[in-house]
Amino acid sequence: MGWLTRSMDWSSMPVGPVDLWPESLKTSVAICLRSKFPIVIWWGPEHLTQFYNDAYISFLGKTKHPGALGQSARECWKELWHIIDPMLKGVFETGEATWSQDLPLMIDRVMPREEGYFTFSYSGIPQNDLTIGGIFCACVETTDRVIGERQLSLLRELAARTTEARAWQEACRLSADALATDRHDLPFTLMYIVDEEMRTISLAATSGISAERTIIPQCVALDNSLWPFAKVLESNAPCSILNLQGLLGDVPTGPWPQPPTQAMALPIQPAGQTGKAGVLIVGLNPHRPVDDKYQRFLSLVAAQVSANIADAYSYEQESKRAEALAEIDRAKTAFFSNVSHEFRTPLTLILGTTEEGLNSGECALRGAELELVHRNELRLLKLVNNLLDFSRIEAGRVEATYEPTDIAAFTAGLASSFRSAMQRAGLEFEVDCQQISEPVFIDRDMWEKIVLNLLSNAFKFTFEGKVTVSIQLVDGWIKLQVSDTGTGIPAHELPHIFERFHRVANAKGRSYEGTGIGLALVQELVKLHGGSVKVQSNEGEGSCFTVLIPKGKNHLPQDRIGGTRSMASSAIRASSYADEALQWAASQFRSNRRRSSWVHAGSNRVDRLSPRGRDRV
Ligand code: ADP
Repeated sequence: MGWLTRSMDWSSMPVGPVDLWPESLKTSVAICLRSKFPIVIWWGPEHLTQFYNDAYISFLGKTKHPGALGQSARECWKELWHIIDPMLKGVFETGEATWSQDLPLMIDRVMPREEGYFTFSYSGIPQNDLTIGGIFCACVETTDRVIGERQLSLLRELAARTTEARAWQEACRLSADALATDRHDLPFTLMYIVDEEMRTISLAATSGISAERTIIPQCVALDNSLWPFAKVLESNAPCSILNLQGLLGDVPTGPWPQPPTQAMALPIQPAGQTGKAGVLIVGLNPHRPVDDKYQRFLSLVAAQVSANIADAYSYEQESKRAEALAEIDRAKTAFFSNVSHEFRTPLTLILGTTEEGLNSGECALRGAELELVHRNELRLLKLVNNLLDFSRIEAGRVEATYEPTDIAAFTAGLASSFRSAMQRAGLEFEVDCQQISEPVFIDRDMWEKIVLNLLSNAFKFTFEGKVTVSIQLVDGWIKLQVSDTGTGIPAHELPHIFERFHRVANAKGRSYEGTGIGLALVQELVKLHGGSVKVQSNEGEGSCFTVLIPKGKNHLPQDRIGGTRSMASSAIRASSYADEALQWAASQFRSNRRRSSWVHAGSNRVDRLSPRGRDRV
């Protein structure tokens, strides 16, 4: 600047030739040019001729320097003149210096009306006659510090506000609330989260812009045309969005007089394999260049938003895991209490009877006693078999063997084993198994368990009226229906009836026995046949269980068709179910004679247990 100042022809300018300059101007210019601190001098109250040093060049930028040397300050700083002029007038009139700290000034520098902050003082340069001949201004730019502090406070806010978030949606909302606290740097933001299959992306939160605006997509395919979602997610890198006006139309301005012209789309990175990925779209400050510093700040914002979402999401997952563990624990407790009761009753009967036999003179059991022991042994075996089947299915170790079967005859045979119990209980029993022309592929042991469990329940919960078993071929499906005119199931229990260990509290049945396994087992066995089971029931009117399995064998694993059996160990006999039913009928007959009606099953507890593992089968 020293060289430029010397080579300038000052004689043709309002300040005149250097030789005629007052001493105070010469001294001030000399100090200015020698100083390493940014200094500008404006000489003459009218023209305000501008002198400056090397350190001051950065205030002027390429558009003003070097033309600003010798230029009138009024001309050079016309965009700020409404602020500067009153200050200068005060100095010229009173001789008192000004002091401005971190004063925001919108200067035409790298871009028109660039946001900047400056600390400076205007002091008068006295002439020989003690009037003020010009202004000496030492100034320092504080833009980086002021904007840096603002951005730091946003990042602090972003981390602090979301600590209480318990779900990722809440983390998005709270993050957006925090982003709204710095609308200078982030005039508006849109937070999008990708769905689990990575096919669509949905708006989760916004700041500075209404989410209801029709132009803003709420849930769109990743490759939609408005925002570069797919590009950002694939490259995992930010992407500039130019021509914001063209895309959005009416762009919100935030605290600025003008709206942003560009935006930036930044990746929200998932934590781990299962976290939430997304894209954060940020409208950019229209008065700052998008330089490295700004971009680094935006990356920090996106990283903090990602961390907020990841923290809340992992908290959510952790709570779900804890809840699932608690559920398993509840299931275990329910199972133990159901099952231990189920084991104790027959064991007590066996023990009591055998002890009597041992104490008798013959040391033997005969007739009715021996039958009672045998019956209870069968009951125990049935229970253990059910448990074994269930645990094998749960562990995914069961392999069915599908054999071509005359399903109508097979089912009718199974049903017939209940006939005498039904008769004894005074129930009408209808077996309507229509002949099906082609053989149906079923695992016979499994089918036996399906039919017997449903029939046994129908008998257990029906005190008068009718039980019906039917088989039909309907639209390529084999339809088994077991219906009764019994107690029915309360509507609120129906969604849980196939859950493991679930029993209806205070259900009226012929026996309080039960583990809550029967229907869960039926459902698993039906699934192994590629089918489904459902129930329709009205309390006090009766229930109808419908099993549907596809006909043919294409839906079945080909290597299990007609192969060797693997459930042989748990094969049961229909007689064990029928015997149990006869026993219930007999005890009802006895208790009727004692004028008592029926037994209340189970405890008051309503066991709602998750169907864990069912989907594994
Ligand atoms: P369990 O019979 O061992 O209790 P299940 O899984 O077979 O277990 O049945 C669960 C519950 O569903 C039974 O306790 C009973 O309350 C209800 N239930 C099942 N079948 C019927 C039915 N036909 N009528 C009324 N209630 C039924």
